[in-house]
Amino acid sequence: MRDIAILACGECKNRNYTTTRNKKTMTERLEKVKFCPHCRKRTTHKETKSGSPFIG
Ligand SMILES: [Zn+2]
Repeated sequence: MRDIAILACGECKNRNYTTTRNKKTMTERLEKVKFCPHCRKRTTHKETKSGSPFIG
């Protein structure tokens, strides 16, 4: 069973990436530096609650 976590840009709050996580072993909030097409630069993306998850 996989849980989908959405990674949102910490600056513009756009939800740019999705990833999967294991709730049983990962309790901390994910943070990854990724390129944000909206900011046009690399920003820290933080996990956000998946209200309406999308893939891709
Ligand atoms: Zn951004």
